[in-house]
Amino acid sequence: MAFSLPLLFFFVCHPSRSGGSAFAASYGCPIVNTGWASQVAASNTQGKSTVPEGDTIYRSARALGRALTGKTITRFESGYALLVRANDEDPIAGQIVTKVEARGKWLLIHFSGREGKPAHTLVTHMLMSGSWHIYRPGERWLIPRSDVRIQLETADFVALAVRVPVAKMHTAASLLRDRAIPPATSDVLRESFNPDDAVARLMSYADEELANVLLRQKVLAGVGNVYKSEICFLLALSPFRKVGTLTPRQAEDVVATAQRLLAANVLEDSGDGIVTFQGKNRRTTRNSDPGANVWVYGRKGKPCRRCGELIQRCLQGPQARSTYWCPHCQPLPVL
Ligand SMILES: [Zn+2]
Repeated sequence: MAFSLPLLFFFVCHPSRSGGSAFAASYGCPIVNTGWASQVAASNTQGKSTVPEGDTIYRSARALGRALTGKTITRFESGYALLVRANDEDPIAGQIVTKVEARGKWLLIHFSGREGKPAHTLVTHMLMSGSWHIYRPGERWLIPRSDVRIQLETADFVALAVRVPVAKMHTAASLLRDRAIPPATSDVLRESFNPDDAVARLMSYADEELANVLLRQKVLAGVGNVYKSEICFLLALSPFRKVGTLTPRQAEDVVATAQRLLAANVLEDSGDGIVTFQGKNRRTTRNSDPGANVWVYGRKGKPCRRCGELIQRCLQGPQARSTYWCPHCQPLPVL
């Protein structure tokens, strides 16, 4: 089940508000769309409600994994009917958390299962509003109870899914069938991640624009809208060039840069205490000034940090996601 109202509202309603023309015009950027869609997108790019990137989810998974792995669940509650039903049929309380992992934007909590029954995995996606919080039992919550969608407890910790809009309970078999959840091997932050395979996946979308392919979680799980623009800038690649125009070396650089950026942003220790992950400290530049922690993302109309040209923004791709770029540093290739 998916309660992705903000996104659905944007995707479904926009064409009806604009008669479809503005939506269509947002394909094949660069076009600066000044209509309703860009206002919605702009409101999503002011640092308040952007979709968490892979590093954010990875840190959530790491903190949850430290708190829960190997521990017996003593309480499971949810306001979501499908989770309640799954829990009624096969109670999560009494089961052990065997693993917590991130797969791109998805956070997976695996349970041990019971004899004679398939083990289940709780899968959540944060979209724009959700996060996981961890508390000690008895500790005062910093969020209202009405915002809690899932509550997991062990003897030592209380884990809360706060305003998490997408939650599913999977078996191993149904998890494999869920095409929305990328396989572990495509996650940029995994030890098992194979850069050569990722280059091959990237290059298989030869006719698509680079920035759009960077958002495909089955190509590079974990790269989101912020890193999409930052990776293109760092490599002086136009986000609008077709993937098929990349040289093999450039394709390798794209994958390596994605790995480097995401890995750099999961180094800090998130600890075991109260954890809320908003990705506020994400950094892709070497500048320690928090206002200078990205090269282009969210910087429309501001001077490029390398050449001084004004950073541009447009809505790109079928999902009309904001792309930021410097037209001087990232020219389209001359073919
Ligand atoms: Zn520039």
